[in-house]
Amino acid sequence: MRVARQILNWIPLSFVAKLAALFRQRIILIFVYHHTADISELEAPQSIVISQSHNVPPKEFGEQISALQNAGISFINLAKIFETTLKPGISAAITFDDGYRSVRDYAAPILKNANIPFTIFLTTNLLEGDVFWRDVIAHAVGAQQSHLFLEGIEGDVNSESFSRLSTDLRKASKDPNIYKQKLFERLVNRYTRNHLKNGTVLRSLYLNVDDLKKLEKAGANFGNHSCGHPIMKSLSEENAKEEFLGAHEFLIGNDLHVSGQGLFALPFGGRDLHDNPFLPAYAQSLGYRHYLYTDGQANSYRNAELTLDRIPAPTAIDQFLYSAKSAVTRAILGRN
Ligand SMILES: [Zn+2]
Repeated sequence: MRVARQILNWIPLSFVAKLAALFRQRIILIFVYHHTADISELEAPQSIVISQSHNVPPKEFGEQISALQNAGISFINLAKIFETTLKPGISAAITFDDGYRSVRDYAAPILKNANIPFTIFLTTNLLEGDVFWRDVIAHAVGAQQSHLFLEGIEGDVNSESFSRLSTDLRKASKDPNIYKQKLFERLVNRYTRNHLKNGTVLRSLYLNVDDLKKLEKAGANFGNHSCGHPIMKSLSEENAKEEFLGAHEFLIGNDLHVSGQGLFALPFGGRDLHDNPFLPAYAQSLGYRHYLYTDGQANSYRNAELTLDRIPAPTAIDQFLYSAKSAVTRAILGRN
């Protein structure tokens, strides 16, 4: 594996793109970003939250886009991929999850300048005044206040869950079995009230409704990422559908949903870890065209494919290029 990695690090992305074209493959790489912030410009608690989250700062983001352009890769609009004639080789789509303001401030101008379309998957409660429960946890971890976050829960959870939460709160909070115990709502609310001025200090992290139309003018389109970003796998069929439908209605209500082109990105993204078996068919019944996971694979172009995969964009350029090249190599060799 190490040798394969070294070889891939050494081969330029442009060569991998040519190889894909030579094999007559039409490969779509869909990258997912979250924050694109310059942390040095921010003060705590925002800087604490972002430093604990997925962040590709503006300089690195610009480098990644340039690297794709320099490799001869063309950018496509995710909402229209199957109306687009793709030439053999690699096409790329740029997506952002959750709806952070740093995308408006830093990534969108770069993409607008380069005339690259992009998709933002909105966690719609965040546009309506909520704070993201994972950001609250990110703050507790980053400020080394996990103990304050977990205060008083010993009796509420089994000892195994408690020891996992106190060892690695961020990781354990993504676990469907722990999430199912419905602890987080109460803990997040209490920590937000007592340590984050009732959330007011985090709200500047998120986009607001007025931003969306401006982003649309910069080349954005929007997708469904649920209302509150739950772990869908741990929800009942009814609750999972409510999470989906609430965000769907928000998009329709704000004239952001294009019928027949609907896009949904699964919160947390893991096909095996986080999917709810009822959701893909439900998405289709509401006219959604694509259902996206985030398992790091490339997509081979096929008509009418409901499910697509995305690659989380690492911050460092060499890791970003490696993720792209290894996904393409796996797609060419048929080892998806
Ligand atoms: Zn998300």
